[in-house]
Amino acid sequence: MTVYLNGMYLDQSQAVVSVDDRGFLFGDGVYEVTRARNGVLFEGDRHLRRLRRGLEGLSIALPPGLELEALAAISERLLQENDLGTGDATVYLQITRGSAPRRHQFPPPGTPPTVYLTANRLVLPDDVRSRGAAAVTTADVRWGRCDLKTINLLPNVLAKQQAVAAGAFEALLVRDGIVTEGASSNLFAVVDGVIRTHPATNRILAGITREVLLELAAELALPVAQDPIRVEDLGRATEVMVTATTADVMPIVHVDGRPVRDGRPGPVARQLHGALTRRLDQATARVGVK
Ligand code: PMP
Repeated sequence: MTVYLNGMYLDQSQAVVSVDDRGFLFGDGVYEVTRARNGVLFEGDRHLRRLRRGLEGLSIALPPGLELEALAAISERLLQENDLGTGDATVYLQITRGSAPRRHQFPPPGTPPTVYLTANRLVLPDDVRSRGAAAVTTADVRWGRCDLKTINLLPNVLAKQQAVAAGAFEALLVRDGIVTEGASSNLFAVVDGVIRTHPATNRILAGITREVLLELAAELALPVAQDPIRVEDLGRATEVMVTATTADVMPIVHVDGRPVRDGRPGPVARQLHGALTRRLDQATARVGVK
């Protein structure tokens, strides 16, 4: 597998970062996971916009000569070089504050960040989707800037492990009686006939999938509101679903062992997933290629 590291395309076995890297020592960096189909990035500009915001939020500057826009071309080259020019794939991108002797404060200006990209085959959880997935609720113990997509994912890792240990697909995070989002997904619930999702505040990572689905719901004239979902709302929701780049729309049919409605995927999840699939197909269709 070919990866990109700091200006070079390398076999992954040759790609090495320093033990002084601040990603390793402090989790001091940001990342993106972008969907690709047929070698074409899906919503690449939105991912770059979120990345730019994250880099600014952490005051990490790109290395001289590397423009943010160049990351899209690097991603596309990795897709080609790894035989991912057809079918579904993801591009993982991580930028850390670089490598310097361990001190909490920022290293001297000019310390080059570490830039790493890799492309991988995406196997979508379509079998789980057709049955619907289970989720568990757990406390949201994350920091005050969940809107930044940082590699500091320990609370997310612990929550996801709790879900997996319980045989569930996702952990839903609860803070002050509000279900903010999943460990690695955003949450939508149909409550009183309205599709609800948490507003894009510092309490959630505003997913690109979430953003696209809000647009699609509006196009489909489905009632949608960016309003917090309370724990009690989950109990009376007619549908619950989580969304992410690597899962699309995943219906949640059991929460903490209790069925959502009849315990089967519902029509809104099906409709939104269908609309997202069509958008993906249109956006990644290669003109002139069958
Ligand atoms: N929230 C969290 C905490 C996440 O980790 C993710 C996926 N990385 C998402 C939401 C969904 O974001 P996206 O739709 O951009 O994949």
